[in-house]
Amino acid sequence: MKTLGKFGPYGGLYVSELLIPVLTEVEAAFVKFKDDAAFQTELSTLLKEFAGRPTPITEMKHLSKEFGCTIVLKREDLLHGGAHKTNNVLGQALLAKRMGKKHLIAETGAGQHGVATAMAGALMELPVKIFMGAKDIERQHSNVQRMKLFGAEVIAVESGSRSLKDAINDAMRYWTAHSRDTYYVFGTVAGPHPFPSLVAHFQRVIGDEARAQCLAKYGKLPHTVCACVGGGSNAIGIFKAFVDDPAVRLIGVEPAGEGLETGKHGAALGMGRPGSLHGSYSYCLQDSDGQILEAHSISAGLDYPGVGPEHSYLKDIKRAEYVSATDREAVDAFLLLTKREGIIPALESAHAIAAAQKIASSLKTNDILLINLSGRGDKDIDHVLRYLS
Ligand SMILES: *Cc1c(COP(=O)(O)O)cnc(C)c1O
Repeated sequence: MKTLGKFGPYGGLYVSELLIPVLTEVEAAFVKFKDDAAFQTELSTLLKEFAGRPTPITEMKHLSKEFGCTIVLKREDLLHGGAHKTNNVLGQALLAKRMGKKHLIAETGAGQHGVATAMAGALMELPVKIFMGAKDIERQHSNVQRMKLFGAEVIAVESGSRSLKDAINDAMRYWTAHSRDTYYVFGTVAGPHPFPSLVAHFQRVIGDEARAQCLAKYGKLPHTVCACVGGGSNAIGIFKAFVDDPAVRLIGVEPAGEGLETGKHGAALGMGRPGSLHGSYSYCLQDSDGQILEAHSISAGLDYPGVGPEHSYLKDIKRAEYVSATDREAVDAFLLLTKREGIIPALESAHAIAAAQKIASSLKTNDILLINLSGRGDKDIDHVLRYLS
């Protein structure tokens, strides 16, 4: 591990010594298999035939007229499972198989990564344990049912705030004791090395496809690429393909929750400062004593007090910009896309639509604003209706 997964000062491997050997083993397997022809063929066949890749790009005729530039969505909402998470879990589950691991574990907050991992486990005949905060289990009943239908065991985490942060800690602790036969499918581009690099690798298919699709359809690159940021995996997945095109503006959108001034938000890059969380050094929400704060957002999938280290680096070197959208703005964007374009976006993705509306004012009619529609919003309908009532 030459660089220990550093992005400038960020990232790294700040974990118990007991976890170093298995993380080293995962890194070695990743390095070995990511360019292995048989592995690549098996993964791309799964992505195509099981998950439905490539997902299309779609021009939004009504939004383009309203926003004053060319709005194009990358349709991860059409991926099997309903969000980009499928790309990552298929890649990691396949890697686990190649490593000879017999069990999968994962953390989940809202339950979406848990459902995706349970789905991959069912497909690949690997038993799955999902660590989930007891509070989240109460709030996310239907995702718990889906995990169980796929045959996964859901373990209630009762420690701390009984939510995602604690679920990750317990999953890491369990992994330390069971690493010989167990693989930990991490859900986003955060956590200790090699996860930020490994998850980014499996998600970059989003940007690679979108870049080629834009060139084929429009004969040029997008002016701006915009994506929501929770841990940051769908954003890194689409950014990667454009990071070396300096003319392409990259914008990540964090949840401003009830408003940045209220303290009830999840804007780790916008309002946090660098610190250590879940084995990695990156921006995170913390109080003056360095205690990690809870994140707040209407969309459970963006509810994470940290962010992937590569985003911290892209922010510092000013290659990407990070803005935020409030709960209210996200709900308005959710309704707008639903009513005007016939697409129900995930509330997470709606944050990117909300920000795009503001960004668009500085673009010309023919400039392409590419938005990553990270997932579909069927899961959010009750929540939105309750918010509006
Ligand atoms: C989980 C999730 C996110 C947030 O995760 P990232 O790692 O930041 O991409 C965003 N959108 C959807 C639809 C999700 O399910």
